[in-house]
Amino acid sequence: MAKHVVVIGAGPAGLETSAKLSKMGLRVTLVEKEETSGGHLKNWHTLFPGNMPGLKALESIKEGLDENVKIQTNTQVTALEAVNDYFTVSGHNGWQEKADAVVLATGFKLFDARRKEEYGYGIYENVITSSDLETLLAKGNLFSNHKNPARIGFVHCVGSRDEKVNNLHCSKLCCITAVKQAVEVKQLFPETEVFCFYMDLRMFGRHYEELYKEAQEKYNIQFIRGRLSESTEDKEGNIIVKVEDTLLGKPLRIKTDFLVLMTGMEPAAGTKSLTAMLGLKDVSDKFIRPLDEVLQPNFTDMPGVFVAGTCSGPKSVSETLADARSAALAVEAFLKE
Ligand code: SF4
Repeated sequence: MAKHVVVIGAGPAGLETSAKLSKMGLRVTLVEKEETSGGHLKNWHTLFPGNMPGLKALESIKEGLDENVKIQTNTQVTALEAVNDYFTVSGHNGWQEKADAVVLATGFKLFDARRKEEYGYGIYENVITSSDLETLLAKGNLFSNHKNPARIGFVHCVGSRDEKVNNLHCSKLCCITAVKQAVEVKQLFPETEVFCFYMDLRMFGRHYEELYKEAQEKYNIQFIRGRLSESTEDKEGNIIVKVEDTLLGKPLRIKTDFLVLMTGMEPAAGTKSLTAMLGLKDVSDKFIRPLDEVLQPNFTDMPGVFVAGTCSGPKSVSETLADARSAALAVEAFLKE
């Protein structure tokens, strides 16, 4: 009988790993705590570069699944134990499987912007997150009460690179997401003034720098270097932001219709308990630490347990899929030994 692999988490990484393992002739159980698979991708309007809708990308990934992949939804893994040469994986609802190998593909969660109280998320209606904006863009009813907003601000590094919330890491994708979303807003509302408040701009990927240049030259998006100190609401519901422009060395006070917070990535809830079950070492950024980040990015300290996707650090969707394929190859090599 074919060897059996349990993959935990049915976002893009878990789906892609499962599809590839199945093509290698292995049996796979893909366990997901939510009702449906797809993770954050199912709610994401469009991806950069290429502007592919998140749902279309997801459908394409799912096409790789076949009858060798059993999907077990609504199941939170509560126990994971190494027993001799196999693992037992158990869920909160009594579900249990034996596995020859386990892949952790638990993904990420977005930083809870309410923790940065000074930005007003959850307090003022017109302070939203990048994820909220993506949902509004997908529904096609962006700022439906505002025919033509005068000003919109994007705040970078919300919950990332911030000692106060104990997140020193850069979430890597929020700079390009801010630029992508700022351009999308400008395309819908050409008269609106759009500001990005940033500390550093990290345009590491192919085409990222070009979009940043286009955002300035074609769309006249204004990039202001400085950390937001606070936002308040006036009587009309406008959001007043106070920011120190560190390039010009002067404080600014800008009235915006909407403020969009670029929330960073954190390991998904439950990651810590999974690593604790396996006795994997803790790392400061709380993402799972692979055995060797350069040479063995999909192995962990425990033989037979692998990682795929953003549970081991922020990644774009394309990087996540490449990492998932790499994880499948690592599992196959391990099971052949
Ligand atoms: S990618 Fe940009 S916005 Fe995101 S944490 Fe890094 S520097 Fe900040």
